[in-house]
Amino acid sequence: MDGLFDLAHTGIMAALGRVLSRMDGDVYRGADDEAEEGLKMAIRKSVAREDKQLSPHFRLVEFRCRGSECAGLFPEYISPALVILLEKLRSRFNAPLRIQSGFRCKAHNKEVGGSANSRHMHGDGADIRIHGIQPSMVANAAEELVGDTGGVGRYARRFTHVDVRGSKARWAA
Ligand SMILES: [Zn+2]
Ligand SMILES: [Zn+2]
Repeated sequence: MDGLFDLAHTGIMAALGRVLSRMDGDVYRGADDEAEEGLKMAIRKSVAREDKQLSPHFRLVEFRCRGSECAGLFPEYISPALVILLEKLRSRFNAPLRIQSGFRCKAHNKEVGGSANSRHMHGDGADIRIHGIQPSMVANAAEELVGDTGGVGRYARRFTHVDVRGSKARWAA
């Protein structure tokens, strides 16, 4: 966690530095859109840094982007239905559930070869593993729980994708 924090903190300092470099004495000469945007983004990240407990077993930090370029961007939105689904899966197997990939920013989604409209970018999909449980068993349970209202992707023995897109989707990779 310290490493991630340092990365985000570095981002804030860099954005602040860009804004400060445009100051002449105490006068802000402003109007550097890129620096302004960078600062806004950094502040949004630091505010979102409040590690909200979303449900009994899941915290917001577990959904943050795993990309390095965005310094672990926090999602602005996570679907409550997704969190409920994860709680149900966790309780079905009574074992810790690890979110390998929750929210993805556009750049990271591209980097990992996600589909153009990946549910990961919308905060309603996640790639998961449940400790000690075969991914195929997790997928079976997820299919039963989401029915026609969500997606389940089977990634062999590696992980299971689940989402609550509102319609049925199934695939294996
Ligand atoms: Zn990212
Ligand atoms: Zn996925």
